[in-house]
Amino acid sequence: MVLKVVKYGNPVLRKKGARIETITPAIRQLIEDMFETMYASRGVGLAAQQVGEALQLTVLDVAQVEDRPSTLKLNGKEVDPKTAMPLVLLNPQISMNGEKALGIEGCLSFPEITAEIERSISVTARAESLDGAPIEIEATGLLARALQHEVDHLNGILFIDRMSSATKAALTSRLKRLQKENKPG
Ligand code: ZN
Repeated sequence: MVLKVVKYGNPVLRKKGARIETITPAIRQLIEDMFETMYASRGVGLAAQQVGEALQLTVLDVAQVEDRPSTLKLNGKEVDPKTAMPLVLLNPQISMNGEKALGIEGCLSFPEITAEIERSISVTARAESLDGAPIEIEATGLLARALQHEVDHLNGILFIDRMSSATKAALTSRLKRLQKENKPG
């Protein structure tokens, strides 16, 4: 089922996700719905907060993006990122490696807004997969950027928090409008 994507202004986007200790049927259904929602919205990643659930859960799929390549080491082994997609990550922890670079980002919770965001070009993420097994991901390129964006969501951090003050200032009125439209009650 395609779920409604929560937009900026809804307080759930600022909530830190709770750890997932048990993969219940409800969690499996949520993951399935998150994939359907992400693909329907043509996104490369979706965090549980974006469908109204403050949980440490994100789904990603960068396989369709041809012009922004990624590299991936899965549990220490170099793999073609396309064959490893899609990814489900539970309780991810991320560490940033190496230099930072600017790149264009959008967010399904901020319709029609894109901005240059500085992110590390390489990351290591440790998480649990859907079968409960530990998974280690070393990524560069778009996947590294998407992982940083999604893990931020799981901690209540949004890409506007990572924008330069000039970029954010230029978006002030659009952000205020969005926030007003999506405030509950
Ligand atoms: Zn986002």
